[in-house]
Amino acid sequence: MLIVKKFGGTSVGDSDRIRNVARRCAEEYQKGNDVVVVLSAMGKTTDLLLDQAREINPKASKRELDMLMTTGEQTSVALMAMALHAMNIPAISLNAFQVSMQTTSNYGNARLKKIDTERILHELHDRKIVLVTGFQGINKFGDYTTLGRGGSDTTAVALAAVLHADACEIYTDVDGVYTADPRIVKNARKLEEITYDEMLDLATCGAGVLHNRSVEMAKKYGVTLVVRSSLNDSEGTQVKEEVSVERMLISGVALDKKAARISVMGLKDEPGIAFKLFNTLAKNNINVDIILQSIGRDNTKDISFTVDEDEADDAIALLENNKSRITLQSVTCKKDVAKVSIVGAGMMSNPGVAAKMFEALYNVGVNINMISTSEIRITVLVDQKDGEKAMNAIHEAFGLAE
Ligand code: ADP
Ligand code: ASP
Ligand code: MG
Repeated sequence: MLIVKKFGGTSVGDSDRIRNVARRCAEEYQKGNDVVVVLSAMGKTTDLLLDQAREINPKASKRELDMLMTTGEQTSVALMAMALHAMNIPAISLNAFQVSMQTTSNYGNARLKKIDTERILHELHDRKIVLVTGFQGINKFGDYTTLGRGGSDTTAVALAAVLHADACEIYTDVDGVYTADPRIVKNARKLEEITYDEMLDLATCGAGVLHNRSVEMAKKYGVTLVVRSSLNDSEGTQVKEEVSVERMLISGVALDKKAARISVMGLKDEPGIAFKLFNTLAKNNINVDIILQSIGRDNTKDISFTVDEDEADDAIALLENNKSRITLQSVTCKKDVAKVSIVGAGMMSNPGVAAKMFEALYNVGVNINMISTSEIRITVLVDQKDGEKAMNAIHEAFGLAE
């Protein structure tokens, strides 16, 4: 069997944890399996590197930021190889260049395009454990790129897909995917299984346990994922196309504290304006989420939308620079907002789910700023200070607790 295992930052946070992971990989190897291991940077390394960069230059270029961040993962794989060697297990570490993991050119949020398997297969053939840096790639300019925060999951799923792995295991610091972030909702329940679609919505709406692109990719290539703890042997959660247990109304609640709301006021009320506005953002790779249009004064219209907090400043600058072309009069931005979402395939056939969610928020006095829905998701924008309270209230109202 060929098994891809991915270990996140906490799981390789210090030397003891690295040895613990090495032991787990060695056990798999000693069963006769081929083992490919994807690692994240140790502990909070990526955050620390970014802090350091900000200190030196708050406007550091994205290229140099990627150059810096990729060092985190490189440290992890090299140390892991050394830990395995100390146990007399043959292993080799490889970075994105050595494997050749090609991505699109955009720094900081690149997408994987092509992965060469030759080197990895060669090393596996030599009966080595192959340790691959997560989160990083190379672009057509021969530069390092990164896949977006949390992107090591995507590296693992992509490798599982191209290597036709028999299993793809994502090891983290919780026992699996829960009905809500167990650090925020204390009585959240572990799910045995969840569908790709539900997991994708949860991940996109803030459930950071999996990088959303990893779920997208797993669905596309039919890679069954298992999310489990690196610190115990409990079963974990399977992420797959169909689940066998009866579908619940709601499978989970997600919170995204890193949202920002941008309001664009005084737009001309005529065809093409929304296109110009959102096309300007899209062309600059700024993702827009909830959109609300309302009537402004004197034959104008206002449009509010949410973006990732990290992209808010870029979005504002872009809109200011295109003020007359887009016909806007003023732009404002509110950063202390959060998105709370419920996700569940069961809501398709059940009326009243939204009302129940809004009632739960009303009961704890949380005001809703914006709402958006899809077939299997309802998202509300609330003040950031209300985010955790809202999440707990909704979790309770839908009876998701253990
Ligand atoms: P890793 O470094 O292993 O990739 P992450 O911090 O990226 O770990 O993801 C694991 C974290 O995701 C957990 O510690 C937990 O706080 C958070 N999380 C958010 N939503 C969920 C959820 N629905 N189920 C489980 N964990 C969640
Ligand atoms: N080290 C990267 C991050 O912290 C990638 C990852 O952990 O998945 O975002
Ligand atoms: Mg992660």
